[in-house]
Amino acid sequence: MIDSHCHLDYLENPDLEPPLLTALVCIGANVEHARASIALAERFENVYATVGLHPTDTLEDSPNTRAELEALMSHPRVVGIGESGLDYYWDAAPQEVQISAFEWQLEQARERNLPIVIHTRDKQNQEACSLDCADTLERAGWSRGILHCCNGHVKLIETGLELGFYISFAGNLTYKNATAVQEAARWVPLERLLVETDAPFLAPMPHRGKPNKPSLVRHTLEFLAGLRGLSFEEMERVTDENARACFEI
Ligand SMILES: [Zn+2]
Repeated sequence: MIDSHCHLDYLENPDLEPPLLTALVCIGANVEHARASIALAERFENVYATVGLHPTDTLEDSPNTRAELEALMSHPRVVGIGESGLDYYWDAAPQEVQISAFEWQLEQARERNLPIVIHTRDKQNQEACSLDCADTLERAGWSRGILHCCNGHVKLIETGLELGFYISFAGNLTYKNATAVQEAARWVPLERLLVETDAPFLAPMPHRGKPNKPSLVRHTLEFLAGLRGLSFEEMERVTDENARACFEI
């Protein structure tokens, strides 16, 4: 099993369980977390790192921050750019600031030939964030990336798939009210599916509400296999292969 998106450095006791999880991608959401992710990737053979600036951290965006992140992006254990994207739910930074940081990370991904990890969170019952995200991706035209924690927005998923992106499903796939996400998980082509935990957030059923950890990705995998009518082992093989191709690990 591979956890394609987790924040190991937020966990008090990251259980890396090498026999169970063959690889984990530890996401760097700002300078501090990118440094921590790289440190974990240097320490554990099955951990890989990404480097970027999360949309809710984009008030930190500055020439200095970009220079620090660019230096980290060149580390040999870095397999992706991000967590980038847009977040209109928390609105932690003005939208134009978020979009500018997103565009800069797309340029970095292209220059380094790395996949970009995209976070998208709309305000309840709105879709401006998903639509702006799709627009920004279309304008950039970069073909390697992941729509992380798929939100079920059809136009955004279609845009991602057309570009060549992978669509990653997190623990919320298993939640009772997640009908749009479950619907998407039924039609995204098998060769573009990924699973993740986003640990310590979004623990899958039956652990909902408790701190998440990478090994719990098996519940999301099991649920996804059920939706697609595959065995657990088949779905594990598919998503492992996809994760290896996506991150070239
Ligand atoms: Zn994340």
